[in-house]
Amino acid sequence: MNRQWELNRRPVGEPTISDFKLVTGNVPVRVAENDVLVRNRLLSLDPYMRWRMDDAKSYAPAVGLGEVMVGATISEVLQSPTPEFKVGDIVAAQGGWQDYAVVNRKAVRKLDVDQIAPEAYLGVLGSPGFTAYAGLMKIGNPRPGETVVVGAATGPVGSMVGQLARRTGARAVAIAGGAEKCGIATSEFGFSAAIDHRAPDFAAQLANACPDGIDVYFENIGGEVLEAVIPLLNDFARIPVCGVISQYSGLACGENETSLNRFMRDILVKRLLVRGFIVTDFADIREEFDQTIAPLVASGEIRRLEDVVEGLEQAPHAFLGLLRGKNRGKLIVRIDDD
Ligand code: NDP
Repeated sequence: MNRQWELNRRPVGEPTISDFKLVTGNVPVRVAENDVLVRNRLLSLDPYMRWRMDDAKSYAPAVGLGEVMVGATISEVLQSPTPEFKVGDIVAAQGGWQDYAVVNRKAVRKLDVDQIAPEAYLGVLGSPGFTAYAGLMKIGNPRPGETVVVGAATGPVGSMVGQLARRTGARAVAIAGGAEKCGIATSEFGFSAAIDHRAPDFAAQLANACPDGIDVYFENIGGEVLEAVIPLLNDFARIPVCGVISQYSGLACGENETSLNRFMRDILVKRLLVRGFIVTDFADIREEFDQTIAPLVASGEIRRLEDVVEGLEQAPHAFLGLLRGKNRGKLIVRIDDD
């Protein structure tokens, strides 16, 4: 028999046990050419699963009512029509919340479990570890001496972020829930400081722990934690937006639906690139601009619109007009001889 946890009901707010239903189905006896039959041995439970329980548009489809909950597994091959996998091989798969699964062979990866514990392939060597590595190294880009802050810091993503940040020579500051987790963050994962996000003076403690401001904020949490981080961000700080877990359970019922929370969610789900800049940051491409654009202006291919005001005495009046949208095109004062 195949025990399976199905989605029974879409939760409102925090999920409850009755949102899930345990059913038993049959174990498939024969699999198609491109599939592999596996017995799941380890199941990963991850924050994204909360999102999949809602019927909301997101980066991945929702789990349907009556469908088996999705999830990454470490599984043992029971049947494989192709020689690529042998019976008894230990593989990483998306086997879901059940004993047995039929999975497409292209989505199955054979694991070396002689040197590394199978559990590691769901954490540091699985999706969470890779998430931390990609987000921190490709977006956060920490440099020696900088301050990197991450929440959910003792979880698989956050703890990896902290360890990688330290290896680049940056100073890693943890945000975690409660004294025990804060202790683990510093003693196990080498964070220089750890702050409890439930402390009433959390924002002040975070500011004390980051005397030089924050250069990389690896966003896992959103909401109030983000609000405390924002004033501490240094010029040119980077924010890999990885997750906003404080918002997941409130999504469907619109709880905490501020414009900042909505924006962060859009940044995450739509993979928006948001970067502030001041034109002087790009002085090194000024020459390229002149060479590319000046000929196009001379030939008329780039069009201009100018609003010329006559006489220096008109400057204040024209400027006030600009602030009210009175100008059409580039506002210029022609200074007369007087
Ligand atoms: P964890 O195993 O660390 O579990 C989640 C942790 O989040 C909890 O233990 C808790 O830690 C913290 N948390 C939960 N609710 C709140 C809240 N309301 N306020 C503050 N903290 C809260 O998770 P992962 O390491 O697997 O994932 C961390 C983040 O990374 C999540 O946001 C997840 O969605 C995201 N993620 C994103 C991926 C991507 O591709 N973008 C891929 C994988 C993960 P504590 O008690 O310490 O606060």
